Amino acid sequence: MKKLSTPKIDEMCDLSSFRATHQDEIKEITQMLKKRGGELWIQTSVADELRTQQSGDEVTFVVNQNINFTQHCIGSCRFCSYSIKPGTVKDKPTRMSLDEIRIEAEKAVTRGCTELCIQGGLDSELDYEFYINLLETIKSVSSNLHIHGFSPSEIAFMSQISELTVEDVFKDLMSHGLDSFPGTAAEILVDEVRRKICPEKISTNQWVNIVLLGHSLGLKSTATMMYGHIETYQEEAEHLAILKYIQSNSKGFTEFIPLTFVYPNTVLYKYLGARPSSTGMHDLALFSTARLYLGESFSNIQASWVKLGPKLAQISLNAGVNDFGGTLFTENITKSAGGTFGEEKSIEEFVDLIRDAGRIPVQRDTMYSKLNTY
Ligand code: SF4
Repeated sequence: MKKLSTPKIDEMCDLSSFRATHQDEIKEITQMLKKRGGELWIQTSVADELRTQQSGDEVTFVVNQNINFTQHCIGSCRFCSYSIKPGTVKDKPTRMSLDEIRIEAEKAVTRGCTELCIQGGLDSELDYEFYINLLETIKSVSSNLHIHGFSPSEIAFMSQISELTVEDVFKDLMSHGLDSFPGTAAEILVDEVRRKICPEKISTNQWVNIVLLGHSLGLKSTATMMYGHIETYQEEAEHLAILKYIQSNSKGFTEFIPLTFVYPNTVLYKYLGARPSSTGMHDLALFSTARLYLGESFSNIQASWVKLGPKLAQISLNAGVNDFGGTLFTENITKSAGGTFGEEKSIEEFVDLIRDAGRIPVQRDTMYSKLNTY
C-alpha cells in the first residue's frame, strides 16, 4: 500500500499552551464531573433548571438513517470492533457499492428520513472519486436529504489520498452535496489518551483545526466525546474546555453528544485495562456539567440512546439534556462493539419516552428547525 502523506491543514489555532492557560477552568470542570451523592442531585437539578431557561421543555429528535459504507480501515483504534483490515475476507459484504448506497438512500426517503449520516473506515482500496460519487448518488435520489457525513478523521484521509488541502476537500465535498459533518473521531481531545486508544488517528490539534476549517467554510458539525474508558475526569474536563473554545471562535457546533464507551468486544477493555464504560452517576455528572458549563454556547445537549439505552437516556432528560438524537434505522458501529440497545427507534417510541418524562416531543431537522410537534 502506498504510504500516505500528512493531511494538508491550514492551522487556524495552536493548542500547545491550552492546558496551561486554561488550568483554573479545567480544575473547576473536573470538580463538577466528580460530584456524587446529594451534591450530584443538587447539580442535576440546577442543570435541569438551566435547561428549561436555555432550551425550554421540548425534547427534539431527528428521523435519520446511518450508512456505514465500508468496514475496511487502515486505522487500529483500540475501542473499535467495527473495522477490518483491508484485504481481509469476510463471509458477508463489508464494503457497499454505489448501487447499494442508492438503494439505502431510497429506503431512507420511503421511511421519511430527513438526514443520512454517512461514515466509514479509512479504506485504502477506495479512491477520492468514490466519496464524490457517493454524495452525487445520494443527492440524485433526493436533493432534500441532508447529508451529514465524514468525520474529521475521514476528511484528513481524503486530503491524504487526493493530495488536496483539507480546505479544498471540504469545498469539493460541499459543492457535491455535503451539508454538515459529524464531530466524531474526537474521542478524548488529549494526545496522551489518544496515543493509547487510537495511536494512528489524527492528533488533537489536527482534529481541532479540521473542525475550525469546516466551520469557517459555513459547515456546521456536532461535537462528541467518547468517555468511560481510560481517561481521567481532568482529561474529560480538558476536552470540554477545548470544545467551548472552538465554539466561542466558530459557533459551528449544533450540539454536544457525550458517547459512553461501549466496551464488551473491544481490545481496549479486553486487553488494555479500560473500565467497562461509565457508571450511571458518571453519565449524569457529565450531562449536568455539560449543561452548566457548555449550555450558554451549546444550547443542545444530546443523549445517545444507542449507547446509554432508552431508560438512562430518558433519565438524562432531568440532568440537562434536551435532545434525543436520531432514529437511526441501521446501526453497525455500537453493535459491533457489543452494544445491545438495538439499531433503531420508531417515532412512537421516542414520543412515549419523552412524554413520560413530562416533556414535549418535537421532530426536528439536522439544523434544529422544528418539523412536527407531538
Ligand atoms: S474508529 Fe474509525 S478510524 Fe478507528 S479503526 Fe474504527 S473505523 Fe478505523
